[in-house]
Amino acid sequence: MKHQGGCHCQQFSFETDIDPMLIVQCNCKSCRRITGSINIGCLYGETEVKFMGETNVYEFAGGSGFINKACFCSKCHVRVYNKPAPEVMEGMVSIPLGCFNKTEGLVPKVEIWSEEKLTFLSKSECVLETFEGNGIPERLNALLSSLETR
Ligand SMILES: [Zn+2]
Ligand SMILES: [Zn+2]
Repeated sequence: MKHQGGCHCQQFSFETDIDPMLIVQCNCKSCRRITGSINIGCLYGETEVKFMGETNVYEFAGGSGFINKACFCSKCHVRVYNKPAPEVMEGMVSIPLGCFNKTEGLVPKVEIWSEEKLTFLSKSECVLETFEGNGIPERLNALLSSLETR
């Protein structure tokens, strides 16, 4: 098993044999509120990760206006993954970097919503592309080209 992780209380866990397609740092205010911090999400196809445990689902409109689903451990209420709106990213899940047991080698290559970034944060060396807003077409292209290298 290449990656494993889960919530704080360990009721919920996940495992996968592959690296994320793409790791994205989202600087938007909505993510800041839902995480209490900065959202660094590791993107996978839904079928690439095995999820185990119970979640509660919170639905909210993202920056695009479409409905995202945030899934929280039913016991400790840590957000363990997000399902982006299918209109934006069909069949994808985003797992917070902080939920991984081992984070070595997991670095964001793309950051989005740069205009809402906390002013004291500098640009990380690992970030190759920065987008204002959600940069959807650009982001999807970057994602597809990164598929070959994982
Ligand atoms: Zn938990
Ligand atoms: Zn965001």
